[in-house]
Amino acid sequence: MDLDLHLHSAASDGTLPPAEVVSAAIAGRLDVIALTDHDTLAGVLAAIEAARGQALAVIPALEISTTWEDADLHILGYFVDPMDPRIQEHCERAVGRREARLREMVSRLRDQGVDVAFERVAEAAGEGAPGRPHLARAMVEAGVVTSVPEAFDRYIGNDHPAYIPTLLLDPGEAIRLIHGAGGIAVWAHPPAHRLETLLPELRKGGLDGLEVYRPFLGRDRMLRIEAAARSAGLLVTGGSDWHGPEGGPLGEFRVHASEVSRFLEAGGM
Ligand code: AMP
Ligand code: ZN
Ligand code: FE
Ligand code: FE
Repeated sequence: MDLDLHLHSAASDGTLPPAEVVSAAIAGRLDVIALTDHDTLAGVLAAIEAARGQALAVIPALEISTTWEDADLHILGYFVDPMDPRIQEHCERAVGRREARLREMVSRLRDQGVDVAFERVAEAAGEGAPGRPHLARAMVEAGVVTSVPEAFDRYIGNDHPAYIPTLLLDPGEAIRLIHGAGGIAVWAHPPAHRLETLLPELRKGGLDGLEVYRPFLGRDRMLRIEAAARSAGLLVTGGSDWHGPEGGPLGEFRVHASEVSRFLEAGGM
């Protein structure tokens, strides 16, 4: 059984609608996926509906943006109840905050002589929870950069002056929200060099797992994160963080069920 536990759709900053993510997962011969859009559960029911009667299970999930010491840190929530009122309230608030933050980023870019209209960013986001990739796509369209990676590398990546953290929640609050909705909280793409300082904090907050398996991580860092998870008694998960077919076909990266068996058991699968 093959899984991908980290996927985005157009409900946030992915490029395909949820039902098409499901089709791509079936075409990629995956058996289980989790749709983990940023701060929204808006695509989850559509994905579950699209997978009905197909040989694909969809785990309801989301990726919550939290801020810790001026930098964003992402917490994945798996097996959450999509109807949970507190998670829904978070998601509603997140859309407003994400939009205000992108407006401020647009204005900082303008101060640097980089002109992109916020309306184009809003257009790129469409119905989805707005995020930096939408800003990057609007910058490509405006001709101020030639590609999305260039936009991040030169202007809106985490180390640049135009970058603003989401400032929505701290990690402990996100973990509590996820637990309150019956879910499992997993630290997404933990940087190996921050494990020592941050993991004890997150464990105090009730963290359940670490995302260990992902593309391009490299064996050394993967082993370090895996060892940290094991010694802390945490669950391990993995996923591609796929945002659409322009990043390669879905299913190219896959996690085997045996690698995440404790996680699946904890989720009742
Ligand atoms: P946001 O939630 O608005 O901060 O946007 C985070 C998203 O931006 C991530 O999920 C990625 O899709 C994308 N992203 C972050 N860093 C980069 C980068 N260096 N190059 C391309 N995309 C990136
Ligand atoms: Zn994203
Ligand atoms: Fe993330
Ligand atoms: Fe992600």
